[in-house]
Amino acid sequence: MPVFQSAMFEYAGETSYHDLKYIRLNNTPTHAALHAKLAAIEGGEAALVTASGMAAISTTLLTVLEPGDHLLAQDCLYGGTHDFLTTEFAKLGIETDFIDADDPASWEPLLRPRTRAIYVETLTNPLLQVPDLDAIVRFAEAHGLVSMIDNTFATPVNFRPLERGFNLSLHSCTKYLNGHADIVAGAVIGQGAWIERITHRLNHLGGSLDPHACFLLDRGLKTLAVRVQYQNRSALQIARHLEAHPGVSRVNYAGLQSHPRHERARSLFAGFSGMLSFELHGGAEGAERFMKQTRLPILAPSLGGPETLLTRPMLTSHAGMSPQERRRAGISDGLVRMSVGLEAVEDIVDDLTHALENAAVVTTHRT
Ligand code: PLP
Repeated sequence: MPVFQSAMFEYAGETSYHDLKYIRLNNTPTHAALHAKLAAIEGGEAALVTASGMAAISTTLLTVLEPGDHLLAQDCLYGGTHDFLTTEFAKLGIETDFIDADDPASWEPLLRPRTRAIYVETLTNPLLQVPDLDAIVRFAEAHGLVSMIDNTFATPVNFRPLERGFNLSLHSCTKYLNGHADIVAGAVIGQGAWIERITHRLNHLGGSLDPHACFLLDRGLKTLAVRVQYQNRSALQIARHLEAHPGVSRVNYAGLQSHPRHERARSLFAGFSGMLSFELHGGAEGAERFMKQTRLPILAPSLGGPETLLTRPMLTSHAGMSPQERRRAGISDGLVRMSVGLEAVEDIVDDLTHALENAAVVTTHRT
């Protein structure tokens, strides 16, 4: 795809401000090609790329909801989204009630005359829970709400929300869609009328994606299917291996039969993603020792790239929560989150096994 690295284009008789060709208006030929491709891979009428996942999420929410409106949002969201709702949205007079997305009976009592939308994530971070996604769509349709889903963890390879009835699908393209860990980008995909309204809002808020980043994202999309399918397979193998290891007390992965919503995940998803989390018997100290003993994974935040990454959510993505909130959400201090990369899976398994053994050796010496 050619990169039209040009901020503005010659005037061609456009009659609307939004049609003038200008990078901030997200309508250069590079943007248009990428929009068409993103819409196609998730079965949407239209798509819009943005400067980051948070630009897609904030701009979409600010388009769908106005001051005085009310939102129902899942209680376990990406930290940035949760903070946006509780700080920025609250300042604008838009109220949010957080829901257990696995308990449909608890949603109706929270409805208000100005409830406009419902917002969930396909797989939760870091516990990989699977919300009752079909019930969310039915509830939204029954009550005239706009249904929005952050599909970053699943990717369109594993789940296509619009085909299942969601109105708007959001992505941090920083993760799997780009897949090379070299840009920050976002996207929103859905019905044409919604995408036009969100585009006009983005044109004012300014979170547009540079054409060179559009080009890199397009490059990443070419290998999306093979990368994600490989990561699905590797993650399942690693999850099974960890589950069978005596040093590991719990593994959270929707592809395991022990996952409480495994059957639901099987009926919804083509694959269970490259994301998993687990706890060791040694708690937080054991987790720290284990991570220091690994040689192959990189200890870093983010996900969906070629390298396997490890984090402790308590210190990174969920550091903003109080210890009580984390405990209520089921996020222990020793929880380790893993984004499985593109390395040979045997190498990852070997490295994790050695690290578990070495960490356990240290435990034995100390006690
Ligand atoms: N949604 C999810 C599920 C994420 O994990 C992240 C980032 O980690 C975001 C959205 C925000 O994306 P970005 O960092 O591209 O703004």
